[in-house]
Amino acid sequence: MILKNPDTMTIHTGMKGWCSTMVYPPREGDLTREAIRAMANDVIAHGMDVWFKFTCPSCGFRCTAETKNMLCDTYECFECKETCTPQYFGLLVAVLLRPSPEPIPQSTNGDTA
Ligand SMILES: [Zn+2]
Repeated sequence: MILKNPDTMTIHTGMKGWCSTMVYPPREGDLTREAIRAMANDVIAHGMDVWFKFTCPSCGFRCTAETKNMLCDTYECFECKETCTPQYFGLLVAVLLRPSPEPIPQSTNGDTA
């Protein structure tokens, strides 16, 4: 379609974000680098391991970083192998349920005779 009168054409600047390139948003609850780093440091200080999670902006795959306790600048998507620089992260905290060092007391019923 050829516009007969381009002078009257209005450019809609309010359509940002709905371009031809689909960019997947971070998951709800994801935090900025600074916030997630502070949270991770707090968790690590308690002796737990953390992995950073991010949403690939290219394909939307939810990735978990391979390197624990370390926030990198760029990550490779597990799904589409695109290198991306996510700005928002989630946190995966590993809580190790260690077996109790004390033996579990056994009920003996007391009667041996
Ligand atoms: Zn991807």
